[in-house]
Amino acid sequence: MGYDYNKCISEIREFDKTVAEAELFSIGESVMEKKIYCLGYGDGDKKLFVNGAHHGLEYITSAFLMRFMREFAGAVESGADMFGYDVGKLKKGIRLFVVPMVNPDGVDIAVNGLDITNRYHRRLISMVGIHSFNKVWQANANGVDINHNYDARWSVVEKSPAPSKYSGPYAESEPETKAVCEFVRSMDFDMLMAFHSQGGEIYYDFDGLAAKADKEAAERMSRASGYPVRTPAGSASFGGCKDWFIKEFGRSGFTVEMGHGKNPLPEERLCEFYEENAKIILSAMQELVCLE
Ligand SMILES: [Zn+2]
Repeated sequence: MGYDYNKCISEIREFDKTVAEAELFSIGESVMEKKIYCLGYGDGDKKLFVNGAHHGLEYITSAFLMRFMREFAGAVESGADMFGYDVGKLKKGIRLFVVPMVNPDGVDIAVNGLDITNRYHRRLISMVGIHSFNKVWQANANGVDINHNYDARWSVVEKSPAPSKYSGPYAESEPETKAVCEFVRSMDFDMLMAFHSQGGEIYYDFDGLAAKADKEAAERMSRASGYPVRTPAGSASFGGCKDWFIKEFGRSGFTVEMGHGKNPLPEERLCEFYEENAKIILSAMQELVCLE
């Protein structure tokens, strides 16, 4: 069993129930009309947006973000630090918003396949020409790769719906992309981080637009985690969430490729690389607090 939408929302609701100050809301709906949930936590003026699972096979990023939220709130509650970071101070300085699963349909298709009775089953088979969806599915339920669907040098790689890398008919054509963009436009975020798997790398730039301070922030995240800093090349270099954020707002955007191995990384392996990725978020929060 993988970490699917139902598992994610049960953890989201549990967090909302147990953490008094948590805020829970939906930023929109997927193609198959699943709500895309966001958790808010923290008291500060600086706003950090962290998201996961743009890609179906990368549901480990959702499991990671939920564990991070629980442990962060737990450490705040008990007055402990977290890997040496003063979480009380971070919570005071920052309001953290987390969308653990941007692409709930893609995750469910990757984890559970598509039941033959599902009305998208036949449609997707005729669109992409494959019958078995799990193990390969990165896209949404329209066969669009959401992380190539943002308006940042949007261009075509695949020409038609596919398990991955089809950018869609036009930028922001997909409801999941639109939900993220509208949310970001409404929020005036100071920083955005998108978690993917895998590779153990930190990306910080788009088109040479990143500031020197962003490179330095990425280098501090790198020292905290052991992940090298990279600048994107090839098909990873356009249409992505952080690309759009950097291009549109001129602020700090990062992509983290968590863990090593072959996607999907099973949830059980999260313990191997939880700490290094938690330190990346904590390091990012530290950057924001220091900007005060
Ligand atoms: Zn990805």
